[in-house]
Amino acid sequence: MFQASGGWIEVVAGVMFSGKSEELQRRVRRALIARKRVQVFKSHLDARYGGVHRVSSHDGRMLEAIPAESAAQIGQQIDPQAQVIAVDEAQFLDDGIVPLATSLAERGRRVILAGIDTDFRGEPFGPMPVLMALAEVVDKLHAICVLCGNPASRTQRLINGRPAAYDSPTIMVGGSESYEARCRACHVVPRPDDRQVRLL
Ligand code: ADP
Ligand code: ZN
Repeated sequence: MFQASGGWIEVVAGVMFSGKSEELQRRVRRALIARKRVQVFKSHLDARYGGVHRVSSHDGRMLEAIPAESAAQIGQQIDPQAQVIAVDEAQFLDDGIVPLATSLAERGRRVILAGIDTDFRGEPFGPMPVLMALAEVVDKLHAICVLCGNPASRTQRLINGRPAAYDSPTIMVGGSESYEARCRACHVVPRPDDRQVRLL
């Protein structure tokens, strides 16, 4: 594994269901075993999809993810003693996460960011592309395509069981949508005519 004496940034990227949260928790658990002081944040937007993260180490120490709606909220809650800062669902955060992660790394912290790299359209999601560019280490995880069983690199949004159109909002508040992991070939994004990709 990558080791450095100063701080650094690690990104765990991938589609929904690719195991990003599992991987983040594994890294956090190991940092706790190494007796590091760890803080875990989780983008607040995700609250509707599931509960609060709890990460435990074998010596029984438990850690809860602190909900945050913005990079500024994370910045305000950083424990100056924390050596490892982990952030889940980083795709929902604003661009302020970039200077925050950078300054934490420059001040010797290990920063772990997990997030979905592409939105339901298959396009770069929020601050993820910049974070991936600036990180020392990037791991791109894949799920299993629910249609064909190949590695899935795309998140398919379905609304009432049908593929969501290109111009539907990036982040939907509501309940009629659902998501599937799919490969590039099985991923469907109906486009309005003026957005058709022209093959020149
Ligand atoms: P992420 O944080 O990337 O959304 P999680 O860590 O929450 O992923 O969940 C990963 C788990 O989801 C897998 O270990 C597996 O049990 C389950 N899972 C459900 N659907 C799929 C799928 N299509 N491909 C792979 N894993 C899946
Ligand atoms: Zn497929």
